[in-house]
Amino acid sequence: MNEYSPEVVTALQALIKASALCQKIRMDLVGEEWILKSDRSPVTIADYGSQAIVCKLIRDRFPHDAIVAEEDSRELRKPDRSKILGQVTDYVSTFIPKSSSEEICSWIDFSSTSISNRFWTLDPIDGTKGFLRGDQYAIALALIENGVVTLGLLACPNLYIDMHQPSGERGCLFIALKGQGSFQMDIKGESKRAISVSKIEDPSQAILTESVEPDHADHLYHQQIAKELDISTPSLRMDSQAKYGILARGEVTLYLRVPSPSEPGYKENIWDHAAGSIIAEEAGGKVTDIYGHPLDFSGGIKMEKNHGVLVTNGILHEVILKALNM
Ligand code: AMP
Ligand code: MG
Repeated sequence: MNEYSPEVVTALQALIKASALCQKIRMDLVGEEWILKSDRSPVTIADYGSQAIVCKLIRDRFPHDAIVAEEDSRELRKPDRSKILGQVTDYVSTFIPKSSSEEICSWIDFSSTSISNRFWTLDPIDGTKGFLRGDQYAIALALIENGVVTLGLLACPNLYIDMHQPSGERGCLFIALKGQGSFQMDIKGESKRAISVSKIEDPSQAILTESVEPDHADHLYHQQIAKELDISTPSLRMDSQAKYGILARGEVTLYLRVPSPSEPGYKENIWDHAAGSIIAEEAGGKVTDIYGHPLDFSGGIKMEKNHGVLVTNGILHEVILKALNM
């Protein structure tokens, strides 16, 4: 695979369209565009719209590839959700003209749970809570072949482009191909530049990033680890796999995700880490769970063999692992 391969071209086109849809919905948000799923997590018309667009474009070009994605259309098809389905249909039709509600539901349902030799993972909006708050979110798409992530893309429509100007222009698209480095583009897929992790060797100079949501990671324990390592800079809390992107471009050194005490046995979803992990690794970073085991994307939707996640610039990985496992 290279940058001209159909996988890369199709994935990029899909994420550029899905990002534009999400940003449009974000600007129009009036508060009624989300519902709670059975697990009490929120889903918005943007999650559905984004998944419909990406699944359709991938399926059109690669009809035999499975797509393991977060959403399905069950809730959307309920009679009392007709208003939401109407909104999803209107927005998707802006990007794929003349789409019917039935077609859109069927595109969303291209998603399967089938883990085969070659499949895609998709989180149509990672960090839905961040999206609703007006903070960070990402559209995360990855291709997994024989258990290895070979292509990863992260669209972060609300992330500042220049790490030195957090209040400057926004909209980043990260992309990595196995063995070919990591790159950042703007949200239209232009202005491509290679990125790499920070070269910091002194743990006390590290900057830590973690989830905003206290239920998604053990903030107190992270603080304890930071204290042990003499890290004085306050952690940068950010929603979604944008955390992998900012680590890959050298803005932070360390991404810790120790399961929260509210759900100590939590097993991570593959779509929450596949794209981010290749982007961090191809930029020179290292990604494991908190015991140092490689993330396993081949066992199912959940990463059953892993516990938490640790991402570093590589240089600091062993030191942090030691601190975590004392
Ligand atoms: P973040 O924005 O980094 O906090 O991660 C968002 C993702 O966290 C969502 O896509 C969920 O799949 C995932 N998630 C949900 N519950 C938990 C939990 N208890 N622990 C860790 N991650 C979770
Ligand atoms: Mg997610």
